Amino acid sequence: MEHESGERSPSNAGKSAAAWAKVRARLRQEVGEAEYRSWLKQMTLAGQEGDTLDITLPTRFLRDWVREHYGDRLRALCQAEMPGVRRVELRVAAGGAAAGTAARETAEPAAPLAERLSPAPTPTPAQAEAQRGDWMLPLDPRWTFDSFVIGKPNEFAHACARRVAERPAQAGFNPLFLYGGVGLGKTHLMHAIAWALRARDPSLQVAYMSAEKFMYRFINALRTQNTMEFKSQLRSVHVLMVDDLQFLIGKDNTQEEFFHTFNALIDAGKQIVISADKAPNDLSGIEDRLRTRLSGGIVADLHATTYELRLAILDAKAAQAGVEVPPRVLELLARKIATNVRELEGALNRILAHAKLFGRPVTLEMATDALGDILRAHDKRVSIDDIQRKVAEHYNIRLTEMASSRRSRSVARPRQVAMYLAKQLTSRSLPEIGKRFGNRDHTTVLHAVQRITALMQEDPAFAEDVTLLRKMLES
Ligand code: ADP
Ligand code: MG
Repeated sequence: MEHESGERSPSNAGKSAAAWAKVRARLRQEVGEAEYRSWLKQMTLAGQEGDTLDITLPTRFLRDWVREHYGDRLRALCQAEMPGVRRVELRVAAGGAAAGTAARETAEPAAPLAERLSPAPTPTPAQAEAQRGDWMLPLDPRWTFDSFVIGKPNEFAHACARRVAERPAQAGFNPLFLYGGVGLGKTHLMHAIAWALRARDPSLQVAYMSAEKFMYRFINALRTQNTMEFKSQLRSVHVLMVDDLQFLIGKDNTQEEFFHTFNALIDAGKQIVISADKAPNDLSGIEDRLRTRLSGGIVADLHATTYELRLAILDAKAAQAGVEVPPRVLELLARKIATNVRELEGALNRILAHAKLFGRPVTLEMATDALGDILRAHDKRVSIDDIQRKVAEHYNIRLTEMASSRRSRSVARPRQVAMYLAKQLTSRSLPEIGKRFGNRDHTTVLHAVQRITALMQEDPAFAEDVTLLRKMLES
C-alpha cells in the first residue's frame, strides 16, 4: 500500500496537501478564526513516514500548546482525511523560514528572569522584600495554574497567561489584557502567573494590585508629596499586574499617572498584565491613547462558563476537598448556577460544610436542602427578551433584527431559531410569540418551529448549536 512505502510520489504529495488543507479548514471552523490564527495557522505539513504524519511548528511553546490542546482532535481529523495515517508527530521546525523564531527560542540564555527583564540594578534582597511587601497584595495559595480548570470559554486566556508566565515581556504578549465578567477567573489567572514567575525566580519583583489600590497609593503619595518615591518604586518592578482596571475610569489624575507608569515599564521591557470587566475598546471613560496602548499586546477574554466547564470545575473542587459528591449533585449545581464560578464554589462549599457538620454523605436530597434559597433564586423563568438577546448575541446579529422585516438568511434563520426556542421554553402562544417578533402572523411562527425542527433532524451540527442555546437559556 502506498502509505507504507514512506515515499511520496508527486500525485501522493498533491493528495496529502489537499487532505491537509481540509484538516486545517476543519480546525479553523471548529476553533474559530482568532484562535486558529494565534495557534494553529503556523503548522506545516513536513511529510509522512509510514503511518505517521510529520507536522512542524516554529516554536517549542507553540508545539507544546498545540499538542496539549489540539493533539487528539488533530489526530482524529488527520485519520479521517488521510487514509493510512494513524499517528501525528508534532515537532519544532529546524531551519527553513521559521528558523529565526525557533533558533531564538532554543538559543536564549538561561539567565534568571529578573536579569532578562530588568536593565535596572538588582535590589538587595532586603530592598526587594520591602518593596514587594509594599506593593504585593498577598497571593492566594489556591489560585495557581494547577487548580485552574481549562475549558473552551477560558482556553485562550489561559494559554496566554501560561505564555506570559513562561516568557514574560515577549513581543506580542505585552501587555496581556484579560477581560470578562465577574467570577470567571481573571484574578485567579493573574495570581497563577505571579506564582509561576516567583517559583522560577524568587528575586523577581511582581507587583500585583487592584486598580483601587493603585489609586489609593497614588493619592496618598500626592498628599504626602511623595510622588517621586511612588514612581520610582513602581518603575522598579519587573512585572506589574493591575486587577480590575475599570475602577480607574474617570479618575483623571490617577489615569494619567498610570499611563506614564505603563509606558515607562513597557519601554523598559517589563511585563504588564491588566484585567478589566470589558475589552479596551468597550471601556468608556478612558483616554484613547491609553486604550491604544492597552490593546497593543494581546487581549484575551474569558467567556461565560458553559455547562461542561462548570461541571469540570465542580468535579475538580470536590476531588480537591476529598469528598465524594454524586454526579447528580454536581450536575444540578452546574445546571442551576450558571452565573459565575465564585457562586458555584460557594454552593459546593455549603454542601460540603453541611456534610461535615451533620456527618452525612452528600446526596441529592441533602444538597437540595442545603441550597434551598440559592437554587430558588436561580430558578428563573426564561423570557422572550432573554431568548432574543441570547440568540442575537450567539449569531452575532443586531437585536433589532428579531423584529425587523429583513428576510436575508443571515438574519431570518436566527430569528426562526429564536421563535422556535420561544415556543419550546415559554408558555406563550403562537400569536403572542409572533407579536413579539415584529408583529408576525402566527403561521410564520408555526413555520419557523417546523423548519427548525426539520433542520435539526437533518443537520447534527445545527442541532447541537440550538441545543446549546437552549441549555444556556435554561441554566
Ligand atoms: P474574577 O477575577 O474574574 O472576578 P476570580 O478569578 O476571582 O474571578 O474567580 C472566582 C472564583 O472562581 C475563584 O475562587 C477562582 O478560583 C474560581 N475559578 C474561576 N474560574 C476557574 C477555573 N477555570 N478553574 C478553577 N477555579 C476557577
Ligand atoms: Mg477579580
